[in-house]
Amino acid sequence: MSFQRSPGTQDILPGVVERWQYVEEKARDICRRYNFREIRTPMFESTELFHRGVGETTDIVEKETYNFIDRGERKLTLRPEGTAGVMRAYVENKLYGEPDVSKLYYIGPMFRYERAQAGRYRQFNQFGVEAVGAVDPALDAEVIALGYTFYTEVGLKGVRVEINSVGTPEVRAAFREKLLAYLTPKRDQLCKDCQSRMERNPLRVLDCKVDQHQFTDAPSILDSLDEECEQHFSKVKQHLTDMGIPFEINHRLVRGLDYYTHTAFEFKAEGIGAIDTVGGGGRYNGLVADIGGPDQPGVGFGLGLERTIMLLEHQQTEIPQLHQLDVYMIALGEAADREVTKLVYELRNAGLRAERDYQGRKMKAQMKSADRMQARFTAILGEDELTNGEITLKEMATGEQRTVKLTELAVALS
Ligand code: ATP
Ligand code: MG
Repeated sequence: MSFQRSPGTQDILPGVVERWQYVEEKARDICRRYNFREIRTPMFESTELFHRGVGETTDIVEKETYNFIDRGERKLTLRPEGTAGVMRAYVENKLYGEPDVSKLYYIGPMFRYERAQAGRYRQFNQFGVEAVGAVDPALDAEVIALGYTFYTEVGLKGVRVEINSVGTPEVRAAFREKLLAYLTPKRDQLCKDCQSRMERNPLRVLDCKVDQHQFTDAPSILDSLDEECEQHFSKVKQHLTDMGIPFEINHRLVRGLDYYTHTAFEFKAEGIGAIDTVGGGGRYNGLVADIGGPDQPGVGFGLGLERTIMLLEHQQTEIPQLHQLDVYMIALGEAADREVTKLVYELRNAGLRAERDYQGRKMKAQMKSADRMQARFTAILGEDELTNGEITLKEMATGEQRTVKLTELAVALS
């Protein structure tokens, strides 16, 4: 009997995992500079949290969640996104009691039952940030800037920022009527998904991948904004302009989650088949109250790391060589072998990446290993060298050889 991974899941193997580490380190480093701090929340939460926090009429909750009942008869769901859990933790741990805005980030797996394809998995990873406790448009702009900086600093080219304002629930309710008046005569030409969305969440119809081309003359929510929404949106745009962050306005952009208010934005890039969105987010002023907390406003994003990494590969972006070995140690004879075991231990303690043979192979095979592992140096210890307290060091790039004292090996390698 043999086993295979479940559809929509991936094994991230050495050779590829270095890209992941690189991207995750960048995310952490940028968050440090923006003064966002990491939060780690559980991978499953009560099912009800996602119904409240993500929205009953969203694709995620309607079709994509992994639900289960545990042995204690609790209804649980594997988290399909990060915001709801972070907000639950924010409320439960009373972070709102702190005087400053809570600036939090997370990196980790999310789970959605989707039809697996390139860039779409059932377990995937998101890097996300949430800033809770202020309505300042500068915070919306900061969050967008952080995401944009992430893509630029990992080395991606051509990532575009699209922004929109989805207003307040009141603005949306009024716009909904206008939109329905526009959509109703077209109803029969729309795809089945859109027909059902029309009843439940008509704004999402505008975002439909299938029917989008039909909506060039659709009413714009931006024409329905009230004074407060208008002002908020123009300040966000102003801040982005001041920071020199390029953006485009897309009045048809509505996010797949129900909780957004005011700013909604997406990061887009070409290169993953039919998929063009690599991340998105927005402001969610009602969410904390919706899940039973105090009425605290927030803004955040979630970025897909699989898609980021696929784009890095697609654009053949170089990442620093993280898997290069400092030294491959070769022992000739039993006494030397014993010494090498000790030396490798000491070199590793000194912070060097050191490797050796464990299979009793001939010197030639060991040299090949050193090549495969891209060792900077090979260190060869024979009986004579051992007696003299010396070792032969070969620099692999140049082929140059020299003899160094065993006591000075770590320094010679640094
Ligand atoms: P899509 O329209 O592609 O289904 P979405 O609106 O469902 O995206 P969000 O919920 O906004 O996506 O999640 C933010 C990001 O997380 C996406 O832009 C994407 O990069 C990533 N993402 C979402 N679902 C998946 C998935 N099934 N597999 C891989 N990445 C995903
Ligand atoms: Mg989706």
